[in-house]
Amino acid sequence: MSEPKTHSGSCHCGNVRYEATLALGQVVACNCSICNRVGHLLAFVPVEQFRLLSGEDSLVDYRFNAKKIAHLFCSTCGIHPFGRGKGPDGKETYAVNVRCLDGVDPRTLEVMHYDGKSI
Ligand SMILES: [Zn+2]
Repeated sequence: MSEPKTHSGSCHCGNVRYEATLALGQVVACNCSICNRVGHLLAFVPVEQFRLLSGEDSLVDYRFNAKKIAHLFCSTCGIHPFGRGKGPDGKETYAVNVRCLDGVDPRTLEVMHYDGKSI
């Protein structure tokens, strides 16, 4: 497990920029109906470890099913830089798409395959 570090991230066009403090040990690939299509790799952080620097107005909040998770994407470039929801403990949690973090090579990360499709 790597040490927690503050990473900067963005969507493709740069409207949405953020910082997240996390350890990039293991990331999650989920096969649920949306994650499978988006193809992102996720790392989860509590709200205190996430800072949106710009682009709140550019984010489209897509919800389905129970509508509890905000599947956010940029209205200009369509990239999903992160999502928002509540963790099992009820606390606000951010799901960071590590593919959107600067200088992070997803090939170097350990991927945990989560079976969201069956839940
Ligand atoms: Zn964008």
